[in-house]
Amino acid sequence: MKFSELARLGYHFARTRWLLSGRAGFRTRAQLQAWQAKKIASFLKHELPRTAYYQQHVGKSLAQLPLMDKTVTLENFAQLNSAGISLATATEAALRSEASRDFKPDLHGYTVGLSSGTMGPRGVFLTSPAESATWAGIIMARTLPSDMLRDLLTGRKQVKIGFFLRANSSLYTTLGSKRIDFTFYDLFQGVDAHLAALEKQAPDILVAPAHVLSQLAQLKLTGMLHIAPRKVISVAEVLEVDDKARIAAAFGGIVHQLYQCTEGFLGYTCEHGVMHLNEEFVHIEPEWLDEEHSRFVPVVTDFTRTTQKIIRYRLNDVLRVRDTPCPCGRVSLALAAVEGRCDDILWLPKKSTTELVAIYPDMLRHAITIFRKALPDYRIEQHGTSLHIAVNDVQPQTRQDMYAAIAALAERLGLQAPDFVHMPFVREDATKKRRRIMCVTRPCLVALPKLPVQAEQDGKRNEELSLA
Ligand SMILES: [Zn+2]
Repeated sequence: MKFSELARLGYHFARTRWLLSGRAGFRTRAQLQAWQAKKIASFLKHELPRTAYYQQHVGKSLAQLPLMDKTVTLENFAQLNSAGISLATATEAALRSEASRDFKPDLHGYTVGLSSGTMGPRGVFLTSPAESATWAGIIMARTLPSDMLRDLLTGRKQVKIGFFLRANSSLYTTLGSKRIDFTFYDLFQGVDAHLAALEKQAPDILVAPAHVLSQLAQLKLTGMLHIAPRKVISVAEVLEVDDKARIAAAFGGIVHQLYQCTEGFLGYTCEHGVMHLNEEFVHIEPEWLDEEHSRFVPVVTDFTRTTQKIIRYRLNDVLRVRDTPCPCGRVSLALAAVEGRCDDILWLPKKSTTELVAIYPDMLRHAITIFRKALPDYRIEQHGTSLHIAVNDVQPQTRQDMYAAIAALAERLGLQAPDFVHMPFVREDATKKRRRIMCVTRPCLVALPKLPVQAEQDGKRNEELSLA
């Protein structure tokens, strides 16, 4: 890393850690919002005239700008970035890196990467060296515990980070240095292939998709793995209740989460284990899904990055708001959960009418979890009025329990019980993003309600809740 980039990293670390979030940070939400409004106004003033896509929108306020999504962004990729890089060039470079498993090369100095999609086109991200350094400073400020920071600053001890992901990126290796041992464990080789190296590294911070952390936790609980990371961070997937319990039992303490995708670094877990939106760097407009304003689809504006414009970008995720303030005192919005994607919402008709009602993924997870304590892994797919269910357990009773739990939930909500269809359990390989609950098709009834979300349309695409 060049000196100028290191200086930038240090500056953004200090600014994020002590100026924007510490005691000197925002005392009220109104203060944060007023500051955000100023930042956004300045961002739009400078960036809209420089961006081909927004030429006809120069001078407009954020609310007047068009909504974006993955399709629009990919179709207008070259018009939305200031590096003059086309989608074909960026995709080709990223695919070349993935094929060779050599993630060092950059494209004209820019870092490119692909989201880890399972369906549809994959998102592409593009960052300049300065943005990579900024990102590294912010992410370290958000994740590095004080004792490890001391080790890092005094140089007394190297901080070791073990990172499992399906693709590395020179964005992540920005973190590596003499004082930070950053080891990437390539999920394309499976988890088992890395166990010896992982034992040897003995990471202080372990970062991996939730289902991989769960697998490592299981190995630790059965005495086959002996690492003792001081911090465990779940990325790229919904952190399921059972996985969270297993990870906490194996490694102790809070299971942290990073909510980061190609569209930006959107959230992180505070020292109380509560997810906060990263609102000092991104603006997140809630598109409410219910009258109680408990769940929303985030519309993201990243006013920190400028190479690739993310302005009013509608993600396909469902976020649930925490109903009590977080004891940490941060004024950024606290979440109860990142529930999943819009197409993880299942729909059942009311008993009395044909009106469809949403069953949010967390409602379903909760119903299944309370019904049976030691739950095996499962998958639920909605195909019209049928739910196809796979259970990783040969006991027929487990499957029956699962059906009963879902039927009881439908009954409680006044909805028609679905038909249950047996589906064989197939474990995805480690590189695939795990999705336990998915709506393939909603029930086709006489009059479909006007949905607050484009669940069906988005089902064909794939927004990522991921580290790239
Ligand atoms: Zn908090």
